[in-house]
Amino acid sequence: MRPLASGDIIHLVNLKDQTYPLTLKAGATFQFNGEKLAHNDLIGQEEGREVVLSRGSRLFAIRPTLAEFTLHMPRGAQILYPKDLALILMWADIYPGATVVEAGIGSGALTLALLQAVGEKGKVISYEIREDFARRAAKNIEAYLGPTDRLCIQPNNIYQGIAEDAIDRIVLDLPEPHQVVPHAALKLRDGGIFLSFLPTVPQVERVVEVLRQEPAFEWISTFETLLRGWNIDGRSVRPDHRMVAHSGFITTARKVKRGP
Ligand code: SAH
Repeated sequence: MRPLASGDIIHLVNLKDQTYPLTLKAGATFQFNGEKLAHNDLIGQEEGREVVLSRGSRLFAIRPTLAEFTLHMPRGAQILYPKDLALILMWADIYPGATVVEAGIGSGALTLALLQAVGEKGKVISYEIREDFARRAAKNIEAYLGPTDRLCIQPNNIYQGIAEDAIDRIVLDLPEPHQVVPHAALKLRDGGIFLSFLPTVPQVERVVEVLRQEPAFEWISTFETLLRGWNIDGRSVRPDHRMVAHSGFITTARKVKRGP
């Protein structure tokens, strides 16, 4: 990995897990509780290094992981959390070179994960009706990935139709994915995958009902995502007292072509 450079986004993190995001800039100074750190002391160093501030506070300079970056980036819409992003990538089977349509872009957390998974030869087309969200998401994405021509933002309502053809995967994080099912049936390639993420049961019932009525979809299945941390400390080895008990349900379906 290349050394830290001016323009890089880094996180300064202490051992209490407090995180201070920062964009490195030659000549600038980071202020922390009245203490100072010159960005020039970090530029040219390897990441992961401990730095000591002017009055002795210690912080580690690391490049944020995609999960850490998405949790700290500016938000308009509520983002999808890393545990859900991880499952979406696997269950939608996002592969290098895939063409993926998603909606809506929100703050861009899912988009970043999709762009990373489709790689240099893939493409993500993101439908978003709110121009302000699209703008913020584009900024977040550029901050992490730099300029990219692998993302196309469609400023359109996906309930009214999908322009692209032969789509490999459709991934939806919006309130009424059942309205996208007829368009997905037309525009997904055979063998393509439809995935929706939804927070409530009536929404899931609706999308599953509409998928079942659509002859082009089979193997419709829904699951819930739970992740429980554990406390490992001496003899106190037990699940954490607190967890995010609910975020949403993932529903997937596969597009098929029926014989005569
Ligand atoms: N997955 C995103 C969050 C999406 S929030 C993230 O991880 O950051 C839902 C988004 O869908 C909002 O930005 C909303 O404006 C958009 N949206 C809602 N209905 C839509 C529609 N019919 N067509 C396109 N975008 C839509």
